[in-house]
Amino acid sequence: MACQQFDLVADYLQIPTDDRERLKVPKRSLTVAVPIHRDDGSTQVFQGYRVQHHLSLGPTKGGMRFHPDVELGEVAALAMWMSWKCALTNLPYGGAKGGVNCDPRKLSVTELERVTRRFTQEIISFIGPQVDIPAPDMGTNEQTMAWMMDTYSVHMGYSVPGVVTGKPVLLGGSVGRREATGRGVGYLANRAMDVLGLESSKATAVVQGFGNVGSVAAFSLARFGVKIIAVSDAFGGVYNQAGLDLIALDKYVTANRSIAGFPGGDLISNEQLLELQCDILVPAAMERQITGANAAKIKCRILAEGANGPTTPEADKIIDQREEIFVIPDILCNSGGVVVSYFEWVQDLQSFFWNESEVVDKLFRILENAFTQTLTLSRKNKVSMRTAALILGIQRVHQAKKMRGLFP
Ligand code: GLU
Repeated sequence: MACQQFDLVADYLQIPTDDRERLKVPKRSLTVAVPIHRDDGSTQVFQGYRVQHHLSLGPTKGGMRFHPDVELGEVAALAMWMSWKCALTNLPYGGAKGGVNCDPRKLSVTELERVTRRFTQEIISFIGPQVDIPAPDMGTNEQTMAWMMDTYSVHMGYSVPGVVTGKPVLLGGSVGRREATGRGVGYLANRAMDVLGLESSKATAVVQGFGNVGSVAAFSLARFGVKIIAVSDAFGGVYNQAGLDLIALDKYVTANRSIAGFPGGDLISNEQLLELQCDILVPAAMERQITGANAAKIKCRILAEGANGPTTPEADKIIDQREEIFVIPDILCNSGGVVVSYFEWVQDLQSFFWNESEVVDKLFRILENAFTQTLTLSRKNKVSMRTAALILGIQRVHQAKKMRGLFP
């Protein structure tokens, strides 16, 4: 998917073949074995990955995913998307992504700590505040980042908070980082409502995924007055046309680790949820949820992509024909997370910390700028919002590579 999207834009921009290879092929790809002692005394070996897509604009940046589907190809695609995302928002980074093929729900806290520390140790010469800066992604959180930071710091002999972002605030994390991705989704969906002339107090939203991105996006939309009529997680969803009680739902999910069984609405499957009539549809879970099979059936006005790669290129072709749907593409829609990660890194390097209103204000300025540039280009060149966002990102990396030239 990432390569297909790149090729389409490279054709559009008429990027010469030699330059395409340089832009496409990941700079560094690392696969490591991560052996740990399980709590029962047995030994298990997990596979870990880190891909750094390009190094032309600064260190690389991107999340670490702990999920049973993690493999090298997925990580490489996600790293490429991080590159265009960082370039679109003008962050001084190349893209990266990594992770461990494991199911964090089936590991105890002590096992998760051993996986995280051993994985960090295996990739230690590949990361660093000037080299590559990991962050949370699916299946990882502030605690994971604290363990990574500690493992790296013990190796160096002093505290290095700038090696990862998304840490607990007490350890050099940034206020507002945890909420940043979902808050950005809410902000941009609200901007899209302005563009379409929709009134937020009369709008409805459906959110797929109730993790860090989906849950905060739902709360953030609700704060703009939007009614959240359905949400789901990997185990199923809940639907209530009158609007869900998000506070009760959040409490239920904290207690039960899943939405399944929440009494405040009717049961609904993930497939049905995506096809509900609504103003804003927020896929905030896995890749490839909107496909050639269901793209004609989605019934939203705004598709706000909280996840990375939720829409396949086949689905894009169908959605491009459906002019009533306004797409906020993933590399724009979920970029709030990496933007505040950048703020966290800057604060760590300076050892000087900002308050929440400074963080949120600076975040919204960057998102506003990226949104306006994407919308303007999309209208001027009569291309989709996704193509416009990719053009801006890819063009910047291409120009940077041209200016730096080729060594030797
Ligand atoms: N994992 C997040 C993403 O996909 C955040 C990356 C970061 O903060 O570096 O954008």
